Amino acid sequence: MPNELDIINKAEITHCLTKQEIVVLLTSHEYDQHLFMAADRVRSKFVGDQVHLRGLIEFSNICQQNCYYCGLRKDNVHVKRYHLQPETIIEFARKAKGYGYQTVVLQSGESHAYTVSDMQYIISNIKSLDLAITLSVGEKSKAEYRAYKDAGADRYLLRIETTDRKVYEALHPGMSFENRVRCLTDLKELGYEVGTGCLVGLPNQTMESLADDILFFKALDADMIGLGPFIPNADTPLAQEKGGSFILSLKVMAITRLLLPDANIPATTAMETLNKEGRMIALKSGANVVMPNVTEGEYREMYTLYPGKICINDTPAHCRGCITGKISGIGRQVSTEYGFRLRK
Ligand code: SAH
Ligand code: SF4
Repeated sequence: MPNELDIINKAEITHCLTKQEIVVLLTSHEYDQHLFMAADRVRSKFVGDQVHLRGLIEFSNICQQNCYYCGLRKDNVHVKRYHLQPETIIEFARKAKGYGYQTVVLQSGESHAYTVSDMQYIISNIKSLDLAITLSVGEKSKAEYRAYKDAGADRYLLRIETTDRKVYEALHPGMSFENRVRCLTDLKELGYEVGTGCLVGLPNQTMESLADDILFFKALDADMIGLGPFIPNADTPLAQEKGGSFILSLKVMAITRLLLPDANIPATTAMETLNKEGRMIALKSGANVVMPNVTEGEYREMYTLYPGKICINDTPAHCRGCITGKISGIGRQVSTEYGFRLRK
């Protein structure tokens, strides 16, 4: 049997691979369909056929960081900055509940636009709507993470972006890899469900470093892993870069599913930006979560991490109907549960 098929079989049965084996899968192409089908079987066996929907609220695009790839970076003067009032955020969450979401993800740039008590107010009010709450607001102190947790936050998303220190440091001026890891460790210790992930196709990123990323997710025992291609943004220093490919992102995701069989893995929006069936293909290659946008009005358009973002002119009601139809179309069902990780 070819080496690649042996490796895929081993991963499907043991959920363990060496770095070298992961590199073999990432660099060969002939057995990609086998890889995707194995990831789909593991997904079905461990997390079932239900798809968890998370309503994404992009509540502010103000950011103090300068990540080279991101359109919200502080030095980008072409972005009209906004921050929603706490009552507006709570209202968006209430509407999300009305559309049938059981979880909202509160995402923003990293900033001090909201005090800890503003955040506590927002979190506790949304919690009283009987919604699970995921935060994605960047690097904070452990005390701040604790305050959000005490107010009712359940989960936190903070991608490591890349475990290649050199690449990390080149792309994140003024930030440190150590602090990123410190944040993830603190979040785990505080009892959050922790999500991390990486960008695929960053400048100077290698297959070896992508393999390290996957092994990092496993070592952290991440509860959620969000992966997507890096999409160059014209208003950033990486405007001229090539960006990541859809297939490579899908492969990193499928291998991640084989190694972390019971994790929650979203079919990300960035995947759909590169392929118009991207999220459904991802759902058939290991993913079990989708995060439709529930931000209203003009704000979607102003939250420009990367160009070509899908659904910027759609309403939350439209997105909900659209995604439900697509999920039924591939023979899966929308979950009515909160969608916490169930360890197996
Ligand atoms: N400020 C928070 C959350 C918002 S950014 C944080 O940084 O954690 C959310 C994610 O968007 C980032 O983790 C990054 O992986 C992704 N992102 C940013 N710019 C991107 C680009 N050009 N292409 C693809 N994804 C991008
Ligand atoms: Fe800010 Fe997050 Fe974008 Fe970095 S990735 S510039 S922290 S919004």
